[in-house]
Amino acid sequence: MANMYYEKDCDLGKLDGKKIAIIGYGSQGHAHALNLKESGCDVCVGLRSGSKNWAAAEEAGLQVKTVAEAAKWGDVVMMLINDEVQAKVYKEDVAPNLESGNALMFAHGFNIHFKQIVPPADVDVLMIAPKGPGHTVRSLYVGGKGVPCLLAVEQNATGKAVDIGLAYAAGIGGARGGVMETTFQDETETDLFGEQAVLCGGVIELMKLGFETLVEAGYAPENAYFECIHEMKLIIDLINKGGIAMCNYSISDTAEYGEYVSGTRVLPYEQTKANMRAVLKDIQDGVFAGKWIAENQTGRTFLNAKRAQMARHPMEVVGAELRKNMLWGDDADPDTAST
Ligand code: NDP
Ligand code: MG
Ligand code: MG
Repeated sequence: MANMYYEKDCDLGKLDGKKIAIIGYGSQGHAHALNLKESGCDVCVGLRSGSKNWAAAEEAGLQVKTVAEAAKWGDVVMMLINDEVQAKVYKEDVAPNLESGNALMFAHGFNIHFKQIVPPADVDVLMIAPKGPGHTVRSLYVGGKGVPCLLAVEQNATGKAVDIGLAYAAGIGGARGGVMETTFQDETETDLFGEQAVLCGGVIELMKLGFETLVEAGYAPENAYFECIHEMKLIIDLINKGGIAMCNYSISDTAEYGEYVSGTRVLPYEQTKANMRAVLKDIQDGVFAGKWIAENQTGRTFLNAKRAQMARHPMEVVGAELRKNMLWGDDADPDTAST
């Protein structure tokens, strides 16, 4: 079993007198900066000059500097910019401004694990990775709750990296939900696997194929959207709340019987497992990382083409129309969704 830490195990005081530079003000950046500030920490945000978020951060009451200035100012430097630009920004603006004994932090392990960033030996290198979207990190904190986090220490130059990580997790509210100790390698590999095989790659492909199968058989696209896409959230909410048991309790016995009869026809057990293992192996061997790094160096042509293709897919077109009439409660606002 993994080591778990909660608020009682964290001492926010370990950040007393420490300046925390949050690099980036996107999904995670705005949440970490605001939560830490409201927890009493000394925070500044580092952005590129001309950033569209500069004014927003200032209006939220935060001090803003350029990335280089913030990295120089900070004793703790948290990298919350897109993973694919981190290596360049690190090299140009962060590395020259790191001082011995500083803590360099990440919310995902990709760049350290795949050696795109190789920090000097005299700084702490650690990760606090919230297991939820940045907007939820913010909205739960405001509501007195918190998104659970992973803690990993890659380099412990000062011997205090764990204390810093736990204090930081408390500061963003994550320790209210729990902090699980792991490694950069495990976080990186499991995060990539989860999003590729199940959460994004798996689920979206499954919904798309289900939608296409019904439409090609002559059923109305609106009907296919409701059955194969809209209802996904309702099922997931039940699982999220009470496990598969609550889902199966809530759905009809007919649906549960069909689940057992047809689930493995759609996803043949041995074949699907073999495919999943192959996906995992490409992640572990760095094959996926190599492809993604190359994709970014060659103008993202594959990603852009796929994005455009998905935007034209009938499930997206029909879904956008139907959702216009379903804007209520949590569904309407990404900031309060999944709370
Ligand atoms: P976003 O895409 O939401 O934020 C991007 C931020 O990075 C923006 O402020 C943007 O600046 C800045 N930025 C982009 N390019 C540059 C550049 N070249 N120079 C300077 N700043 C730049 O990122 P996320 O919050 O999604 O991700 C941040 C980290 O958190 C990643 O490591 C990610 O893996 C991790 N993470 C993300 C989660 C999520 O919910 N999204 C969940 C858990 C971890 P500008 O304001 O100028 O556009
Ligand atoms: Mg990820
Ligand atoms: Mg049904």
